Amino acid sequence: MTAVETAKTLISYDTSGPPARELPLAKWIRDYLEDIGAHAELQIVEKDRANVIGKIGEGRGPGLLLSGHIDVVLAGDPSLWRVTTPFEGVVKSGRLYGRGACDMKGPDAAILEAAKALSKERFKRQLTLSFTAGEDTGGWYVKKVIEEGRVTKRDARFGIIPEPSMMEIIRAHKGAGGIKVMVRGRAAHSSRPELGVNAINKASDLLQELRGLQKKLNETPHPLLGPTTVECTLINGGFKANIIPDQCTLTLNTRLIPGHEKPAVSRGWIKEAIQACRAKDPEFKADILGVTAGKPLDVPEDSEVVRLLTKMLKKQPTGAPYYTEAVNYTAAGIPTVICGPGSIDQAHTPDEYITLKQLELGVKTFKESIRQVCLL
Ligand SMILES: [Zn+2]
Repeated sequence: MTAVETAKTLISYDTSGPPARELPLAKWIRDYLEDIGAHAELQIVEKDRANVIGKIGEGRGPGLLLSGHIDVVLAGDPSLWRVTTPFEGVVKSGRLYGRGACDMKGPDAAILEAAKALSKERFKRQLTLSFTAGEDTGGWYVKKVIEEGRVTKRDARFGIIPEPSMMEIIRAHKGAGGIKVMVRGRAAHSSRPELGVNAINKASDLLQELRGLQKKLNETPHPLLGPTTVECTLINGGFKANIIPDQCTLTLNTRLIPGHEKPAVSRGWIKEAIQACRAKDPEFKADILGVTAGKPLDVPEDSEVVRLLTKMLKKQPTGAPYYTEAVNYTAAGIPTVICGPGSIDQAHTPDEYITLKQLELGVKTFKESIRQVCLL
């Protein structure tokens, strides 16, 4: 079975969601791993949902982690799929089509193929293969892999996640977060606005202040990621056309660069903006209802994994705008970068595809990575 054939099989299992049901595919992968001599186990995370972890050369010291997710996003309107139906992988003009072809059953197949090709070699250090549920469909079950100690730094010195990056080496990405602010006013009949305080007007003052905050953030960009951004993406205020609104809630979406990952940092910015509004306007009242902040990825440029891949691919590392499981592994002591075949441009689209050329390059790169980390 070649990587293309394996990818077709992976695509044939409908693991789209929500709700995704990865279990049958997880079982297939477990059997594949056992067939190539790996020690493999299923980790049931929920009804019909499972991660799979395989280890070759177990106990021979921490080596390489290769990890991919096995769920895919929903196929969407079937009439938009012109080359094939979503769960039937088809090769046409040098491309493999199907849901997950690039995100990321093609890349998953590249890992499996690379592991199989070298599975009979003598492993000096352990190779760990992890296939996770719920990355794109809710659940984020990579957390269970780590919480239950299925993959630890005793298994792997570092990791690669082959999310489609056209084999670019992504060592950094932003963390995602959110802030909810309630701006308070005073209700009155809209024919007598002077008797009330319009919370929507006050919220617009705060938004103005936040544009100032953004300008300030723009002055200290990360070299690969640009600046942290704070965007108001939802606004909810008022309840009747003839009443001056007494409440307006702003939902802010943040994308945080390294150094900004503590919730207290975001909270501090908003507090300052609220204080600035209050200094100009004693009627201004607002409360921060909640702050969340997700860790960014920031694997150092001189780390072993980045050096290995830059040397092999002759490319400089870069950053990405999207969030990945690499953060979870890195936080668990396994510095993990993104580097995989296929383009993110084709992810989540109808007629999703990966070029066979990219797929081959993926297999070659992962084989070479396994060789250098686990065999030499
Ligand atoms: Zn993905």
